[in-house]
This record gives sequence, structure tokens and C-alpha cells, in this order.
Amino acid sequence: MSKTEIKDIGEFRLIERIRRRYEKSSHLVACGIGDDAAALYLPSDHLTLITTDTLVEGIHFTRECTIPYFLGAKALTVNLSDIAAMGGIPRFFLLSLGIPGDFSLSFIDHFYRGIAELAETQDILLVGGDLTAASEFIVNGVVIGHSPPGCVVYRSGAQPGDHIFVTGPLGDSALGLEILRKRALRPRDFSTRGETRGRDKELLGLIRRHLAPPPPVSKGRKLAELGCATAMIDISDGLLADLGHILEESQVGAEVWVDKVPRSQAFEKWAHLYHPRPMDLILGGGEDYELLFTAPKKALEKIGFSSKHLGFPIHTIGQVTPYPRKLSLLAEGKRSYSPSHLGHNHFRVNPAKPS
Ligand code: ADP
Ligand code: MG
Repeated sequence: MSKTEIKDIGEFRLIERIRRRYEKSSHLVACGIGDDAAALYLPSDHLTLITTDTLVEGIHFTRECTIPYFLGAKALTVNLSDIAAMGGIPRFFLLSLGIPGDFSLSFIDHFYRGIAELAETQDILLVGGDLTAASEFIVNGVVIGHSPPGCVVYRSGAQPGDHIFVTGPLGDSALGLEILRKRALRPRDFSTRGETRGRDKELLGLIRRHLAPPPPVSKGRKLAELGCATAMIDISDGLLADLGHILEESQVGAEVWVDKVPRSQAFEKWAHLYHPRPMDLILGGGEDYELLFTAPKKALEKIGFSSKHLGFPIHTIGQVTPYPRKLSLLAEGKRSYSPSHLGHNHFRVNPAKPS
């Protein structure tokens, strides 16, 4: 591995290197990297969707606990997931970096490789960014996408009586983080391109789910095309916190049937070894990047039918109620917990001890 540091090559050579390696020509891009702004074609009859998200070293990740390849992929995923949660089609992205001068060029190369390989699978184009010196590594992504106006799914459309659904198991990412914290990632367990090397395949799978979750873009598109979701959000902060955002924007309440919230086999097998209250990881752990959506009861049959054909599972986990912001957790039909307010307090919910 080369020992070259970022300060050895400087801002402009690094931009040139990124441009040379990762810019792709496309009929959708009149001008990408190299001018003061990118000039892009978007379908004129669609709504443009734009989102941004930031990862900061020491807050969202540490250098010891991830590998650059995963960090790059995750920086893109957190943004793609927001477009997915609107049911949109992502097209372009810009990526701005704050980099400490003593960072190795090889870190940045692996970081960009993680981005480029994910961008390739998602068919999206790098069209710009920014570079600045910083005391910590900071990544800000912007993703631009679009959607036919009638297909965009907002947080604000949930109606009393709607059912609540999730697109996959929850808690794996939070469990992966717990495993990382307790064992610390051994870099030799993953290759520089993210392949698993260690023997603990299941545990590494959970860790990977935290470090490089797949973006739910095709799930969001398929659900938007199905046309029955009344509200949708991606699960980044945790099920209860994110459901809380839907309740807030839709001015409704919800009951969640905690036993119905899906979890993976690996979660069932390992969670109790790494966390005293696995249910906290399912309800409050974030970063699963599954989609949470509401849909009317009359769509249940369509959703059930579609779930067999969509290529991903859809699980019913609760119901929307008419009581604004009131969130009740029900376990086996009994009222178990009713948080008084929404947001971060939900991370402290302990449904194992019903109030
Ligand atoms: P300005 O000083 O006008 O902001 P910059 O030198 O920052 O211009 O950027 C010049 C061009 O390089 C722009 O097209 C910008 O989008 C692109 N660029 C800068 N940093 C990056 C990056 N990290 N990744 C991709 N493109 C970048
Ligand atoms: Mg700039």
C-alpha cells in the first residue's frame, strides 16, 4: 500500500484523480465535474427530489471500527435511502469531503471504490463535490432524483385505520454495532473490498449490516409503483423514532404489535449474548435502512399478494390510530408501553417491562 498522504498531492490533484477515475459520461449530464456547478437533465414532468446527509468521524463512525470501502458505501446509502423513502429514482450525487492532511491516499482510494461500486449497481452518477482540509474526516453527500408527481410518498399521509408495514428485519444493524463495540472489528476479518474473511460469518454479517447496509431503493420504487402507501420513511433513527416522524407529520397515533416486528435468524441467535434487552435494539436501534410505510386496510390483500412477487418481504406490525402522536406498544394483545413523547426518548423504551 502506498504511504502517500493527502497533503502530498493537494486539493486539485485529488479532484483530478477522482474525476479521472469516477466520472462517467451520460446523456443526462451536460456538464459534471470541472465547472462551477453541474448541469443536468431531469424529466420535465417529474418532481425533482434532493436530499443531503452527513457522516462525521467520532460521531457516526471511528476509523478503527470500519473500513474505508464500507464507509464510502454507507455515505452514499444514507442519502439514497432518503430518496427511496419518497419512492423516488436516484440519478446523480455530489460528495463533499473534509479530510485531515495526514490521511493516506490509499484510504481515500478504497473509500471511493466503495462509493463507485455501489453507484454502479444503483445506476447513479457522480457529478460534483467539494474538498476541504478538516481536523476529522467528514463526508457530506447530496443525491438528486426524481419521481412522477403522483408517485411521491410523503410522511404526512397516514390515516387512522391504516396498517403499518416494514420491508425487512429490524435490529441487525444495532446488534452489529454492539458486536463491534464488544469485540472491535478486526480489519483482517474483511478484505479491503468488504469480502468476509473471518470464520464467524453470522456475526460478520451483522457487523456488515451496520457498516454497509444495502440502500432500499428498489423497494421504495416498487412500493411507490404499487400505489397504496399513504406515508413512508426509511428507518435510520430506529423504528419508534421514525414512526414518530410519520405520526408527527400525519397528526395521527399508532399502536405497534411488538411481537410482529420481524427479526432475522442471526438476530434471534445472537442478540441476547450482546445486549440485555434485544427488544431495545429492534424498536430503538437505528440504521437498518428498511422502509416503514402505512397503507389502508383495503390494500392489505394487494400488499400480501405483491409481497410474494416484489422480491422482498412485507410485514404488518401495527395500526394507525386517530390520537395525534400517541404511540402504544402492544405485546401479545396487552398494552405494554405508551411513550409520552417522541424522538430520542424512544431509545430508552423498555417494552420488556410493561408500565
Ligand atoms: P469552486 O472553488 O468553484 O467551489 P472546486 O475547486 O471546489 O470549485 O471544484 C471544482 C469542480 O470539482 C466542481 O465541478 C466540483 O463539483 C468538483 N469537485 C470538487 N471536489 C470534488 C469531489 N470531492 N468529488 C467530485 N467532484 C468534486
Ligand atoms: Mg468548492
